[in-house]
Amino acid sequence: MLKGIAASDGIGIGTVLIVKQQNLSYIPHSVTDTEKEITRFDNAVKEYCSETSAKVEELRKDTESIDADIISGHISMVQDPYMSEEVKKLIHEGKCAESAFENVCDMFISIFSSADEDIIRQRATDMRDVKYGVLRHLLGIKEMKLDNIPEGTVLVAKELTPSMTAGIKKGNIAAVVTETGSSTSHCAILARLFEIPSVTSVKGLLKLVENGDTVICDGTSGNVIIRPDNAQLENYTRKKEKLIQIKKELEPFRGVPTKCKSGRTFGLMCNIGNPEDAQRALDSDCEGIGLFRTEFMFMNRNTLPTEEQQFEEYKKTALIMQNKPLVIRTIDIGGDKDIPYMGLEKEENPYMGCRAVRYCLKHPSVFKAQIRAILRAGHYGNVSMLLPMITCIEELLECKKIIETAKKELKVEKVPYDTDMKMGVMIETASAAILADVLAEESDFFSIGSNDLTGYTMCCDRGNSSVDHLYSPFQPSVLRMLKYTISCAKKKGIPVEMCGEAAADPMMIPLMIAFGLDSFSVSPPSVLKVRKQIAEWDEENAKDIANVVSNLHSKTEIYEYLNTVI
Ligand code: PEP
Ligand code: MG
Repeated sequence: MLKGIAASDGIGIGTVLIVKQQNLSYIPHSVTDTEKEITRFDNAVKEYCSETSAKVEELRKDTESIDADIISGHISMVQDPYMSEEVKKLIHEGKCAESAFENVCDMFISIFSSADEDIIRQRATDMRDVKYGVLRHLLGIKEMKLDNIPEGTVLVAKELTPSMTAGIKKGNIAAVVTETGSSTSHCAILARLFEIPSVTSVKGLLKLVENGDTVICDGTSGNVIIRPDNAQLENYTRKKEKLIQIKKELEPFRGVPTKCKSGRTFGLMCNIGNPEDAQRALDSDCEGIGLFRTEFMFMNRNTLPTEEQQFEEYKKTALIMQNKPLVIRTIDIGGDKDIPYMGLEKEENPYMGCRAVRYCLKHPSVFKAQIRAILRAGHYGNVSMLLPMITCIEELLECKKIIETAKKELKVEKVPYDTDMKMGVMIETASAAILADVLAEESDFFSIGSNDLTGYTMCCDRGNSSVDHLYSPFQPSVLRMLKYTISCAKKKGIPVEMCGEAAADPMMIPLMIAFGLDSFSVSPPSVLKVRKQIAEWDEENAKDIANVVSNLHSKTEIYEYLNTVI
């Protein structure tokens, strides 16, 4: 049995198809007719862009197909003026188009790959994809197609790039297993969105597996079994059927209000990262978007998106949501999310540094452009604005001043915008939680970011496995912060939601019901599970459990107790 990173839940059993990049070797040579070589490069880029646009258009028609958005980002990457200038510079120095283009791509790949953050390292995969696509056109090699693969296929690859997966029908894929990658690689994100079991980072995979082998992929535990024996096949088939059964049991919770047994209703929202996710969120039967993480829109590119570009994306999302609530968070960059072109200073400890609103307040023009775009999008739907990483009242008041200036400008310019847009604060630092009574006076709502709140309370980086034993929202200190934050929101009469991962944790749900949380914001696949879990509790029962938990002194005791009652 092999072990990798559990990237997408569920069990897939099927027949291996190894996906390999085509051989694109060439002999680097020098050129003298540089203009001719530049034309050859320009033509290859043009062909690549029109092939990619056609692919995107095709994908957008078919909701069963793998995400079009990432692929369309590749067009912006290759059309970036800096990139083509650099390639042309090298061609003028005498390099052939293939070498020049490859050198420039490799430079970007090495910058992206050396980033500390997973999400930036992912850009290296995109750049490899772009490099491969344009080189293919320069060399006149036809694209390998994967759109005709048979049902029950387990895709196996070193790395699956977005363009490799484009066009694949999700119903035909039993599972995806890769030798490299992490739980945030494109292929893992797509697998989760399409509910295909997936395991990444399986060391030595390609040496052990052959086309036609039977493979079991357990995307929940990270186990991969190549050529399983009959007992293993029977065991995993049983497990798989059980999971299918659980899924069936969730169906009655589609299209009904989110209510606990004693009748109190809750909001059940989704977290998204781009407008396309909004449709998937709606399909999952959520009641709105509790968190739109806008920083992803700033990532797949080399220059800042303009106000107009941002406005189009937010407006598109608002229109998809058809007047259901949409909470757009202003950019949360810094910390684990560096964006090279935004000029973040290198810091000793970026988590404690110039992150989120701290960056925005230092770069008011970047901030105001985003605020204007969000306010304008509010004209087309039920949009609210959310400020991440607030730690003190001064920051909040400064943000509100910029929001007021943006509103005044839009009014003078006679640009339509939402004059009454609600403005919320993320409670995701210990300081914000302790100051929740003060912050509530200046906020229209709270959104609890339990991921960071846990990290900043326990002084643990959420990605650092050596402090994993401390990182838990069930630490008594974190639970006290949650309880206090919610009580302050209640006292002030403002709504409070939770949008961190803990919102979908079955053990957290009764505690949140008891503390008085109004709304849960979770990933699309968790929506029905959370609705079902909420329906299983009545408030009195949840309060009894929360009372016991509030008197326990350690995470271990709390887990032990909750395990006996849930
Ligand atoms: C959080 O911190 O819980 C949160 C939702 O924000 P992010 O995960 O984007 O930091
Ligand atoms: Mg956060």
